[in-house]
Amino acid sequence: MSDCIFCKIISKEIPSEIIYEDENTLVFLDINPATKGHCLVIPKEHYETILDVPEDVLCKVIKTVKKISSALSKTNPGMSVVQSNGRAAHQEVDHIHFHVIPRSENDGQLLTWKAGSYAENESKSIANEIRSSITP
Ligand SMILES: [Zn+2]
Repeated sequence: MSDCIFCKIISKEIPSEIIYEDENTLVFLDINPATKGHCLVIPKEHYETILDVPEDVLCKVIKTVKKISSALSKTNPGMSVVQSNGRAAHQEVDHIHFHVIPRSENDGQLLTWKAGSYAENESKSIANEIRSSITP
């Protein structure tokens, strides 16, 4: 996609610190890292969200996420893998990407959420709603 910043990184129109590349995926450093070594893993083909990317491509991307996670685990005690879809989830670039963020105790990041709760029987109705939406 011509106006996509990640597609321009793939085509090398925009420079980036590329960490890994294979036929289908690319990994590069996020220029605004949550922690040092924060990587972005993307498919080389342009797909906007997890709903758009074909399963075979997604499998290749997640294999690369594991490869990079394994590399980062050699020097970091933990990592967060984050993938967001849509503006409501704060997806900022419309080319599916996985953040792989090295973590350490007290790294100052708050990649977490406040734990909520369900009212009585609310979880049952929400679970039923989700179950009925699953495509076989
Ligand atoms: Zn793109």
